[in-house]
Amino acid sequence: MALSVRPKPYFIPEYSLTGDLLAFLTCGLQYRYHNKGALPPSTPVQLWFGEFIHGVLEEAYLRWGNNFQLRRFPWKWGSDIRDIELEIDRRLRSKGLYPPPGLFCPYTTSTTSQGLCPNMNHPHKLIASQRTEAAINTWGQHLFPLISEAEVRLKGSRPMPKYKKGISRSNYYGITGVIDVISSVNLLMAPRGNLIVHNIHNHEEMQKIINNLSSQDYEIIIDYKGMRRPSFSSALWHHHEWQVLTYAWLRSQQPQSRPIVAGIIFYINELASSNEDMEQLVTDVKNNQTDIMPSGQDLQSILKWNSRKKLPSLTQPFKEQRSIRIIPVDNNSIQNSLNQFDNVVSNIESAVLSEIGGSSIVHSWPTNPQQRNCTACDFKTFCPNPAPHRYTPTVP
Ligand code: SF4
Ligand SMILES: [Zn+2]
Repeated sequence: MALSVRPKPYFIPEYSLTGDLLAFLTCGLQYRYHNKGALPPSTPVQLWFGEFIHGVLEEAYLRWGNNFQLRRFPWKWGSDIRDIELEIDRRLRSKGLYPPPGLFCPYTTSTTSQGLCPNMNHPHKLIASQRTEAAINTWGQHLFPLISEAEVRLKGSRPMPKYKKGISRSNYYGITGVIDVISSVNLLMAPRGNLIVHNIHNHEEMQKIINNLSSQDYEIIIDYKGMRRPSFSSALWHHHEWQVLTYAWLRSQQPQSRPIVAGIIFYINELASSNEDMEQLVTDVKNNQTDIMPSGQDLQSILKWNSRKKLPSLTQPFKEQRSIRIIPVDNNSIQNSLNQFDNVVSNIESAVLSEIGGSSIVHSWPTNPQQRNCTACDFKTFCPNPAPHRYTPTVP
């Protein structure tokens, strides 16, 4: 009697938009070591602040919804915001994420040691706290009343690019993402004086999209980024656009969705810059490589600044404009972003197949040597191609 052979299980590789696709675009080899090897990064500055600001804004929204007293702005850091920060810090610690030194003071007035702070006068409003306060008081008051859903998990599937029967791992791949916030706006009842609605309605491309709407209601996808506004000539600038447009595609597949007209990215660091953020802004301004250029006093202060000086104080309208990025959503741009991510999946899949076929990790995965990423990369001492030079291992 011939025994039947059990067929191979049907398997669809699933990719997270930020955790896989954007991480691979940053550097394929680093992504491989972090994600496929499940090793956490040792200095996750970007990761910590990104998680922190997401948690704080979400908790602030919940408290705003539950407590009528908090419907007035500005919120005070000591009495309204500090408790939220400590709560989020506790949650992140339970996941193994600790604030990097100099970014956040985790202590209270009763702490009797200096810890990593400049002195014992806790709590200190260090830069992470300056940013949370600025984000809540600049955007929270306009954003919270527009929120219809927060932390929206989305999932979709697409045909596997360059599929080859018997060679490719699957004929489809899954794509997942979490939208920070979906805002719902009714054209006739849009709140007056709302800075976000004002920015949308005064954006040239947006006016055409809104005029062509067949319904009164529309949606805006919102994403918070714990970083500065990238230069428009950087790869990151495009990656963020593809991410938001892909969210728009995933959201449009949900039956309860309404027409999505725009994505908004809030670059939170623009509200309170670090020295490094300011150095990059100076470079972008000198090279004319940013879409929101300073003028008047802001321009003078930026051009005169150098890293030995105190950070310049820039005007609030300039900081607001730099911290909000509007990405109009239309079918052509969605299609383009999906094609871009198909290419990324195709590249990841071919690296996986190369490794399965016996090639070494460093030969299978592409590197993307960029000084900013490489200096903070855990794998730079054995990476074959780090920037700006090779690194030798040092004893801790
Ligand atoms: S050192 Fe740079 S190129 Fe090498 S793995 Fe790290 S980020 Fe990638
Ligand atoms: Zn402190």
